Amino acid sequence: MGPVFSSFDAEPIILFLKSVKDDFGATRGILVGTVKLSELQTLIGNLITKGSDRFFVIGDEGRFISHIDKSFLGIAYVPDRRKFVELSSLHVLKKGLEGHTVFDSISTEGRPVNVYVSPIKNTNWLCGISIEKQKAYSPYFSLQQNLLFMIIVTAIMVIAFTFCSIKLLNYIKMRESFFDPLTGLWTRPKFEREATALLEKNPHKEFALIEMDIPGFKFLNQALGIEGANEVLIKCADVVLPTCKTLNAICARGYADHFYAFAEVSTELKFLVAFNNIVFNVEKAFDDSEIPIHLKYGISFSSRDELSYAGSKSVIELIGEASYAKATIKHSHHDRYMVFSEKMQETIEKQQRIERYMEKALQQGEFFVVYQPKISLSTDKIIGAEALVRWNSSNPKLGFLSPVDFVPVFEKSGFIIQVDFAVYEMVFKFLREQIDLGNPVVPISVNMSRNHVNADQFVREFISRFEKYNLPPELIEIEILERSLDNDLGNLISITEKLHEHGFSVAMDDFGSGQSSLNMLNEVPIDVLKFDQNFLRKDLIDGKQKMINILIDLGKQLNKKTLFEGVETKEQRDMLKELNCDCVQGYFYSKPLAKNDFVEFVRVHV
Ligand code: C2E
Ligand code: CA
Ligand code: CA
Repeated sequence: MGPVFSSFDAEPIILFLKSVKDDFGATRGILVGTVKLSELQTLIGNLITKGSDRFFVIGDEGRFISHIDKSFLGIAYVPDRRKFVELSSLHVLKKGLEGHTVFDSISTEGRPVNVYVSPIKNTNWLCGISIEKQKAYSPYFSLQQNLLFMIIVTAIMVIAFTFCSIKLLNYIKMRESFFDPLTGLWTRPKFEREATALLEKNPHKEFALIEMDIPGFKFLNQALGIEGANEVLIKCADVVLPTCKTLNAICARGYADHFYAFAEVSTELKFLVAFNNIVFNVEKAFDDSEIPIHLKYGISFSSRDELSYAGSKSVIELIGEASYAKATIKHSHHDRYMVFSEKMQETIEKQQRIERYMEKALQQGEFFVVYQPKISLSTDKIIGAEALVRWNSSNPKLGFLSPVDFVPVFEKSGFIIQVDFAVYEMVFKFLREQIDLGNPVVPISVNMSRNHVNADQFVREFISRFEKYNLPPELIEIEILERSLDNDLGNLISITEKLHEHGFSVAMDDFGSGQSSLNMLNEVPIDVLKFDQNFLRKDLIDGKQKMINILIDLGKQLNKKTLFEGVETKEQRDMLKELNCDCVQGYFYSKPLAKNDFVEFVRVHV
């Protein structure tokens, strides 16, 4: 629309308006783009003005958008003598909008002219050209030229509009990349840019970066539907934003339920006291929600650099640290937030070192197996053992490593698959040696990590190794995790059946550690139920005794052998014995033993 005069510098301008809609089609605002008429005139004038011919564009209320004389821009032409009203630009506009027209007129310089006008598509404007009369009346050629002129003019206006629309669309896109359409908060890229600018401008100041999210958000999506979950996100933003403002923080929403805040810190302690307020306010806001909602927060502090910004942590690194700290909050804990610590930094470095050295370690035979006896509660004798992997790294910075340190890292990269098969071979080799030596042997169980997703492939590769050692299959048990093989019940059933076909026994490891399904227990034909160690955790034992009783009964009714691991005390052993549990594994009887110690243990306890 326009032209109008800019209130900023009084220059005549035209406006482009576009409504901005959200995902649901509701109008969230209007975007306005402006073009200075003087700039447009330069563009048009340079291209098409020729001799004494005059090109013009008339916009709203007959005001000139383009005119050879820039002093006409933005205003209407009203002839001195009112009786020549048909010469006014408003009159020309009205006439022109009815269609292509040619008429006689007098130019603003007072010369008789022929005026050709034509409406401009999608607007209430027209463009026209005035040609001095004698020229227009002269040859036919001149008319041809004029028509060509009109076509060029219209084409240029269309190009100008397209150009402005593209600029406007780019602006809309840019705006969308700045503001999250759902909550109105900044987007993560915008947040990163602004936080980086703050860091760079204030190298001597300390900042805190907070990453927050709603644990189990995807379940909220299922429970409340997308719109319901969106409302939760909007509510989060509505609470987080004003509270963050009290900390002078900038905030944003990232992917899904991830929110970010970044604030200057005078001291870490003062910040944490103030931060508790955010936590409190957010908790309060969700007090009355149907489904309990408790946000979790990870915090990382930028280290103050006395010299310059260079060398200190980047915003991306701070987000990574906050995210890491947040991920260490266990689901069962009541902690709402965790601050990234030096210890976490050391863990990350250790994990990176593990990843760097693991393949070489496997080639160099740095992995070995220890055996933890399983004891029958009715006879107090050894009835089997679990093979557990250990890593004695030749790298002095790593040294002797427990699987708790490296198995999760291997699982992340999938390297655990190679380690699993290496362990199986070591176990087969060990049993073969013991049999060849004439020593007593007991069945050994081996762990199958979650990373094996293809039951057929696993069984094929397992058998191809097993067959090399000519062992009775009854000596091998495979411990599978309840949430493995992509959580696919059919896959769990299939692998168990296939392993049974080859004569192996199958145990369900860590049963009860996740969302165990009784249906799964009924359908998957496993032989042994290995209950999760958490059932025996000291602080839980009182309330859990009833539960343990039920679990053992359940195992019995389903015809499964029951085994508790993590048995550390005589009381635990006695209780389990009283409840008719079949066997146990734990420090009370023995820690995992190195090969030779285990051979000795078997010899004594068999
Ligand atoms: P898991 O399969 O549940 O193994 C039992 C873990 O409990 C072993 O830890 C064992 O040493 C420990 N444990 C046994 N008795 C007690 C006790 O009385 N008290 C306590 N507090 N702990 C006890 P470990 O050897 O550190 O292994 C940890 C986990 O690493 C294993 O848990 C298993 O998930 C994984 N892992 C170990 N070896 C292998 C392997 O060869 N392959 C795969 N995929 N994972 C393995
Ligand atoms: Ca196990
Ligand atoms: Ca276990």
